[in-house]
Amino acid sequence: MPASQARYRPETRLVHAGTLRSQFGETSEALFLTQGYVYETSAQAERRFKNEEPGYQYSRFANPTVAMFEARMAAFEGAEAARATATGMAAVTVALLGQCKAGDHVVAAKALFGSCRYVVEDFLPRYGIASTLVDGTDLKQWKNAVRPNTKTFFLETPTNPNLDIIDIAAVAKIARAAGATLVVDNVFATPLFQSPLALGADCVVYSATKHIDGQGRCLGGVVLGAEKFIQDNVQSLIRQTGPSISPFNAWVLLKGLETLSVRVHRQTDTAATVSVALVDHPKVTRMIYPGRPDHPQAAIAQKQMRGGSTLVAFEVKGGKAGAFRFQDALKLIRISNNLGDAKSLITHPATTTHQRIGAAARAELGITDGMVRLSCGLEHPDDVCEDLLAALDKV
Ligand SMILES: *Cc1c(COP(=O)(O)O)cnc(C)c1O
Repeated sequence: MPASQARYRPETRLVHAGTLRSQFGETSEALFLTQGYVYETSAQAERRFKNEEPGYQYSRFANPTVAMFEARMAAFEGAEAARATATGMAAVTVALLGQCKAGDHVVAAKALFGSCRYVVEDFLPRYGIASTLVDGTDLKQWKNAVRPNTKTFFLETPTNPNLDIIDIAAVAKIARAAGATLVVDNVFATPLFQSPLALGADCVVYSATKHIDGQGRCLGGVVLGAEKFIQDNVQSLIRQTGPSISPFNAWVLLKGLETLSVRVHRQTDTAATVSVALVDHPKVTRMIYPGRPDHPQAAIAQKQMRGGSTLVAFEVKGGKAGAFRFQDALKLIRISNNLGDAKSLITHPATTTHQRIGAAARAELGITDGMVRLSCGLEHPDDVCEDLLAALDKV
């Protein structure tokens, strides 16, 4: 981060960091929708390809709009380097695959976003990279899973959909002692509420599709870490295999960052309001919210997070039938597996996002048939609560 940015608080960096102004002096960041770049002379092209002169060559490698998004993300996160990808899954895959070769071993928490679990459990082993899934909240299991060839640890916290909290600093310590790195998927907390690098992680990944866009428009991802981590593991893989982000999507996400702090604070307030409004309702049998003192890992949340969550998970009476009747009775809140949107969205994980892993794995993760996950949007909190309470009457 340039020294000129370091003195500003994260909210200010979200608006200004990384801006590159063209010769036209535009206020808003320009969208450079170009595949390639022209050179003044043959000698200049040669110098660019030999890395003897800074500048752009091809948008699979780098693009000015993408560079602005990456610089703003790095400044916000407090990371030395960031690389944007086409999706959050590309970011996760690059961060894990980029560190490993056949014969290596990965340890991951079993409470993962569905596709992340597929990458660890099914995809990496096809290329000779073994994996072990552990209960992320049980530090002994991380320790016991370590093998001489363990290369990296991977976790998300708060977890999807049950909002369990994993102690990042404690897991980072175990990883370091094992000579392994730690990658944290920080989508649910956002950089606003949790800084995994400061807690000892080596790499942070985001699906920018979620709170960073925040208005449900386009897909994107980011990998962040120390310059050396990115150069050694991420840079060539992205450049040569091509999970690069479109400059258009990077531009949308760059503009999304400007409003992220305002949106996420408001959505978090609404989520906290919902958790209070519903916790004692006779049709709600369980309420999970990281800001609540009755959360199973409340002390860890207090220690490592600066805010609650824009998501609330709760269990509706009557199992699957009860949850379906409840969701179908909602008028304002829409049924969708996405999250972080301006629109409040609700999902039934057992039949959608976590359907693939089967009943036994769901039981292990505490995902019951009555459980729903609500992503709070930007509507008036009273309208969100009234919609939920009216639908609970129909259960
Ligand atoms: C959505 C999500 C992803 C995947 O991101 P895409 O942009 O959909 O590829 C990964 N991890 C978490 C926690 C997510 O919520």
